[in-house]
Amino acid sequence: AIEIIDLHKSFGDHEVLKGISLTVRPGEVVCVIGPSGSGKSTLLRSVNLLETPTGGQILIEGIAILDPEVDVDRVRTRIGMVFQQFNLFPHMTVLGNLCLAQQRVLGRKRAEAESVARENLAKVGLADREDAYPAHLSGGQQQRVAIARSLSMNPDMMLFDEPTSALDPELVGDVLAVMRTLADEGMTMMVVTHEMGFAREVGNRLIFMDDGMIVEEGDPREVLTNPREPRTQAFLSKVL
Ligand code: ATP
Ligand code: MG
Repeated sequence: AIEIIDLHKSFGDHEVLKGISLTVRPGEVVCVIGPSGSGKSTLLRSVNLLETPTGGQILIEGIAILDPEVDVDRVRTRIGMVFQQFNLFPHMTVLGNLCLAQQRVLGRKRAEAESVARENLAKVGLADREDAYPAHLSGGQQQRVAIARSLSMNPDMMLFDEPTSALDPELVGDVLAVMRTLADEGMTMMVVTHEMGFAREVGNRLIFMDDGMIVEEGDPREVLTNPREPRTQAFLSKVL
């Protein structure tokens, strides 16, 4: 489980997270929506220790990861993160991209890393592209490679920050299908997305953030069709 307790984050005197509390239970898919600048990325990045919160706590499987003694690399290998930008190494093949962190961080031998990589490439529908360079793949394929790379570290949970926002519309579906498969397999997921269809059909819970706070949360169908808060209503009337 991911337990976020009264999380605060300021950049200088600008407070961008103003006390976020949220628990993601094992196997749960929590989708996060909200206007630009509301703090969605900062929240996700805090869970992966890419930001240092200024207050509050984050427990991963009961371990307080903001504790200075915590092994940051170990926390990160347990929590996969996929960004809007795919961040693949351009000079390495798909297989090379998938093996690198397995070998460097997990200390796997090349043969083992390759076999894990191939398993995950098959899962994202790219078994036949292991020798390709990223530049020769479509954006949707690159994003699926990025997901396979994350999965190759055997994470316990996955964070997605607008994974389809940089893609041409016709490529979005393939990436969402992979994420849906992961959800069906029981992966614990936090997903920042503008894809309301995904949130409705795959999400177990929907969180609406505005101005560094959780304004509303609940069953996705409920929140999307019957938002209680005026700010949620205003946001949804613009995006739906
Ligand atoms: P978007 O939908 O545009 O991705 P978001 O909800 O993900 O927005 P964040 O990226 O979390 O929003 O940013 C929240 C606020 O924090 C914004 O006002 C942003 O300018 C500010 N911010 C984020 N990162 C930094 C930083 N490194 N330094 C200063 N301010 C930052
Ligand atoms: Mg963001």
